[in-house]
Amino acid sequence: MKERELVIVGGGPAGMAAALAARAAGVRDVLLLERDQHLGGILNQCIHPGFGLHHFKEELTGPEYADRFVRLVREDPAIEVSLRSFVVKLTGARELSFLRPGALEEVKARAVILATGCRERTREMIAIPGSRPAGVFPAGLAQKMVNIEGWIPGREAVIVGSGDIGLIMARRMALEGVRVKAVVEIQKTSRGLVRNVVQCLEDFGIPLYFQHRVSMIHGRDRVEKVAVVKVDDDFKDLPGTGFEIACDTVLVSVGLIPENELLEMAGGEINRRTNTPVAPAVNLTSVPGIFACGNACKVYDLADSVTKDSELAGRLAAEYLGAAA
Ligand SMILES: Cc1cc2nc3c(=O)[nH]c(=O)nc-3n(C[C@H](O)[C@H](O)[C@H](O)COP(=O)(O)OP(=O)(O)OC[C@H]3O[C@@H](n4cnc5c(N)ncnc54)[C@H](O)[C@@H]3O)c2cc1C
Repeated sequence: MKERELVIVGGGPAGMAAALAARAAGVRDVLLLERDQHLGGILNQCIHPGFGLHHFKEELTGPEYADRFVRLVREDPAIEVSLRSFVVKLTGARELSFLRPGALEEVKARAVILATGCRERTREMIAIPGSRPAGVFPAGLAQKMVNIEGWIPGREAVIVGSGDIGLIMARRMALEGVRVKAVVEIQKTSRGLVRNVVQCLEDFGIPLYFQHRVSMIHGRDRVEKVAVVKVDDDFKDLPGTGFEIACDTVLVSVGLIPENELLEMAGGEINRRTNTPVAPAVNLTSVPGIFACGNACKVYDLADSVTKDSELAGRLAAEYLGAAA
């Protein structure tokens, strides 16, 4: 099995920042594995501005923010980038297996950084009852469809959840001519940034229903309507407050789950509630020589904070490698 000094899994902002920081701290050999065909991670589909205000003191789009790091990574001959490389196995002894087109590769690393990001919570996870028609999408998937694949998922949409992804998708759909009929939020306030509530909903006249939930999705082949009901402070339905909204699309934006299956496979301890590594400090895991950063470590609101903390992960890995040498 080929030996490498540092292997990083995930080429989003976290993995790239960790790679650059590890190199600056003296690591001589970095292999960066990314399952997608491009570096940049989730930023590639975030074409709205709002990135880099802290790190670059500029307002960039997601792809522009990512590109600044992609260039630096590409310029460094000691960082080998392997795209379309899906890591499917990690052991506690830091042996990795990854699938590349036409090949299964194996590598042993002296240190590993997991920068695998998050996946979206789904309709099933919040148990919205009803039939199972087409037209129900996780909001981030819809964002990828619209911004990368060039598809519009529907004509009349209701959005469940008012975090930043839900808010940004409300505006994105409206800009594409979709009639966004409502954003339905079970909490009393939005978890999203105030600027996003104003710029993504108020500026577009999109109604936001706080303390309401989608209680049923109706439709045979395609979504036809949703039932909505007001809830009390204990999230119990208030009788007589129900109403229906006709729509053909429901976007579900109800949170993210850190991707830590590889760490679990390697014997790392995982907090079952948050799916994050159990460790004494950010970027550490319970397995020596395996570090985690970015959204795999905890769900961040800002890419700038991902960059900052992931640089620390790169330095921690370098320190570990220095001490182990
Ligand atoms: C819709 C949306 C809007 C946002 N808006 C803003 C904003 O306006 N401003 C802001 O600052 N932040 C924003 N953010 C947050 C920010 O984009 C994220 O916090 C940041 O991108 C997380 O970086 P990451 O590298 O940890 O994860 P990701 O960007 O998700 O990267 C993880 C990478 O790991 C790869 N990967 C996963 N598993 C494997 C595997 N087994 N093998 C190989 N590769 C693997 C994935 O393909 C992916 O490329 C937004 C996020 C979203 C989703």
